[in-house]
Amino acid sequence: MSTARKPITPKPRRTRQKVLVILQEQCKQCELCITFCPKNVLCFDMSKYNKKGYHPVTACDIDACVNCGFCERICPDMAIFLADKEEAQRAIDDGALEENTLIPELMEQEEEEED
Ligand code: SF4
Ligand code: SF4
Repeated sequence: MSTARKPITPKPRRTRQKVLVILQEQCKQCELCITFCPKNVLCFDMSKYNKKGYHPVTACDIDACVNCGFCERICPDMAIFLADKEEAQRAIDDGALEENTLIPELMEQEEEEED
């Protein structure tokens, strides 16, 4: 085995292909996605109730999301999933989102641009 040290080359920045979509009206606050997210991206929005009377999930740290899809697989109510970025942006632009739909990555960008 060679003992020569390898040069350190920086890894390319990880780019996310998809964006997280949260249908807050469908969330029943079961906490599964929060428990299984490996990056602690998700939390409950304790300042808000959906029409079912639950505090819905939101993204507390969307920058940490690695697009693993665990939340999508674990949610029993299909309230959280990953979507193609361009399609999601089109849905925002067309006003086609259901009430209380969050796409934190794209919506944060829009808010920043408005400021
Ligand atoms: S895709 Fe993975 S990292 Fe991103 S919110 Fe869902 S479980 Fe967490
Ligand atoms: S798994 Fe689904 S229903 Fe449960 S807290 Fe997460 S988004 Fe809400």
